[in-house]
Amino acid sequence: MPKVLIADSINEKGVEVLKDSAEVVNNPTITPEELLETINEYEGIIVRSRTKVTKEVIEKAENLKIIARAGVGVDNIDVNAATDKGIMVVNAPQSTSITVAEHAMGLMLALSRKIAIADASVKAGKWEKSKFMGMELRNKTLGVIGMGRIGSQVVKRSKAFEMDVIVYDPYITEEAAKELGVEITTLDDLIQKADVMTIHVPLTPETKGLISKEQLAKMKDHAIILNCARGGIINEADLYEALKERPDMKAGLDVYEEEPLTDSPLTTLDNVVLTPHIAASTKEAQRDAAIIVAKEVKNVLNKQTPTNVLNMPIVDSETFQQLKPYFKLADKLGQILVQTTTPNITELNIVYGGEVSGRSKEPLTRELLKVFLNPILTEPVNSVNAKAVAKQRGIGLTEGETDNEKYDAYMKVNVKYDDKEMNIEGIIENKEPKIISIDQYSVNMTPEGYMGIISYMDLPGTIGKIGKILGDYEINIAEMQVGRKEVGGEAVMVLKVDSEIVEDAVCELLKDEKIYTVKAVKL
Ligand code: NAD
Repeated sequence: MPKVLIADSINEKGVEVLKDSAEVVNNPTITPEELLETINEYEGIIVRSRTKVTKEVIEKAENLKIIARAGVGVDNIDVNAATDKGIMVVNAPQSTSITVAEHAMGLMLALSRKIAIADASVKAGKWEKSKFMGMELRNKTLGVIGMGRIGSQVVKRSKAFEMDVIVYDPYITEEAAKELGVEITTLDDLIQKADVMTIHVPLTPETKGLISKEQLAKMKDHAIILNCARGGIINEADLYEALKERPDMKAGLDVYEEEPLTDSPLTTLDNVVLTPHIAASTKEAQRDAAIIVAKEVKNVLNKQTPTNVLNMPIVDSETFQQLKPYFKLADKLGQILVQTTTPNITELNIVYGGEVSGRSKEPLTRELLKVFLNPILTEPVNSVNAKAVAKQRGIGLTEGETDNEKYDAYMKVNVKYDDKEMNIEGIIENKEPKIISIDQYSVNMTPEGYMGIISYMDLPGTIGKIGKILGDYEINIAEMQVGRKEVGGEAVMVLKVDSEIVEDAVCELLKDEKIYTVKAVKL
């Protein structure tokens, strides 16, 4: 029987799942030295956060097929080293959803009924009944920002409290909203209507500071705001000012810009309830995480497909080697498209050509989908669930083949978004990806580093002006290609630059009416 090491203490139920398929060695106090010495014996290892699965450990693990984290974050695992060695890394992202949703409900009640300060008052020997007049949740409007795994569970629970729910999540479909019986709205509308507002989005460049001074100012005077997602989504300094000035407004936080929270002025306020990042900490979540990852390990040992793989496409290593350049091409084309349009696409059409013809393109399509889905989701989608997640989010997908024999390896990707469309064609030359057209304009460029894609009116002086403005911002042009369909019409310029085309430079360029769009890309 294959051997599996359980290197941290996990719930007994997880151990039970594995008993029939593996010889389980339960050593929750194993030292780093012992781990290095013995790892070679194992085909699977399960950890929580104490045991570090470092590059050194992975290098010695000649028989290891799977590293499982009985929880969510994988900071204690060198995922890149595992990928290089062909070892899968899995986790249990779904294990904490209900637990976190319940914590959000707990904070909601603690604030609406002033439970935390009432408790402190009674313990201080007081009986201040009139001070703690509360607010019923029934018939109040709950605004949910982000309706993924946790947001949806909060919605379900709030229905039992007879709350009306509105949601802001630009990436979910009308059908998904209908299924949960919620109304989709804009962020601005949600902020103004919500009596209680709860945040369940990942921390991304788009969501950092999503709720700052301007948004807080628009909230109702008695509104409650909750953050059990990630610190930084609410600007903490702005929140403190708002709560200090408007004592009827309340906040419940489990996560902070810096953790642990020390010396924060928030701790001096009565209208805030703070918990030390414990929203996911329940025995049930730990049990579920142990069962989920034990099943994943069992699947891999039985040569079945796991579902929560973080690090590699599910193809055998021979196919992976053959398709490797296509994976790189798919990733680059996807990155350019997602950075020049939006992750919020409604359709993705892919045409393959060259060596891949006649073979399954499934892994490549999934690789491309990952590029569009990962910027908006907390956990990376993987090659197993990418198609299902895309469908759930209303992304239409078509895959086709071309018999164009001009190129050994060819891909064309077309996306539809906001009633617009964009396409890009790429090939593989000397094992490296190359872009050969953007929106039907021919180019010939290796996609790498900082790039710019600019559409403009093909008139004398425009190219010079673009060069001058970039120069003013000390952005050096390393390579430039222009394409046009007709003289004096719309043209496209693709640039490779030595540093990022910063937002101010983009704004300056767009002041010229002959320059239509400017997209900065970083690969
Ligand atoms: P998820 O990926 O299932 O859902 C995230 C949702 O946010 C998706 O529906 C996505 O479409 C939406 N979204 C993305 N960008 C958005 C934007 N700019 N505006 C509005 N919506 C946007 O994630 P999840 O598992 O539900 O986790 C939600 C949050 O909870 C994450 O930040 C996660 O890190 C956090 N979390 C916290 C704890 C804790 O201990 N406090 C535990 C687990 C998860």
